[in-house]
Amino acid sequence: MGIRCVAVYESYQLKQFTDLGLAEPILRAIKTEGYTAPTPIQAQAIPIMMSGKDMVGIAQTGTGKTAAFVLPLLHRISELRDRPIANHCVALILAPTRELASQIADSIRTYGSAMRVSVAIVVGGVKPGGQIRMMARGVDVVVATPGRLLDHVQTGVIKLDRTETVVLDEGDQMLDLGFMPTIRKIMAKLPKKRQTVLFSATMPQQIRSLADDFLNQPSEIAVTPTSKPIELIN
Ligand code: AMP
Repeated sequence: MGIRCVAVYESYQLKQFTDLGLAEPILRAIKTEGYTAPTPIQAQAIPIMMSGKDMVGIAQTGTGKTAAFVLPLLHRISELRDRPIANHCVALILAPTRELASQIADSIRTYGSAMRVSVAIVVGGVKPGGQIRMMARGVDVVVATPGRLLDHVQTGVIKLDRTETVVLDEGDQMLDLGFMPTIRKIMAKLPKKRQTVLFSATMPQQIRSLADDFLNQPSEIAVTPTSKPIELIN
């Protein structure tokens, strides 16, 4: 078992960004960032997300998990011919805090710097006017905290009926902050046919049941210290 895991780990290490089928402007932006190879979570997550399957990723900050979901989302957006539709978004990313939402939006702009992509940050603690104006045009990606997003969904400023992919980032933190009831209300507004991706550093029972209720036969991937070859050898 241990030896098999080492072999799988090494095959992730060998993979290059160019093996993943990402659009050329994305590869160019990654190169500009100086990334030489995908991290283990990226090598696992990107092919699954590009296949359209649901996914649960157990990974902490610092593993490269933001690019693991942002790069395949950008690839999908690069394939779209049409401009965004008013009040709609193709992809929705939910994050527990304003700071994380803004970091994710920065990553989208960085990795999407060589292509056309529009992003709206929809978070609490700021006046809603700018968010309303941005959504009036429609955007490719909404990065949101749950409370403010639900406010806009309830007033019709944001419509989720055409959203193809939803990413829940830092699921366990969103649980700790009491967002589960809000997240469940948001999930109910999304189309039944969609891709749902959940990242969490840990898997408490309530996150497990969120996955059971809203994800469809997800692939599960994990990047934990136990997958490091040296520890398996020990
Ligand atoms: P994250 O876990 O998403 O917070 O990412 C942690 C850090 O790793 C960020 O500063 C990224 O810029 C960086 N990073 C992400 N992917 C790669 C990669 N493939 N190679 C080098 N650095 C990366």
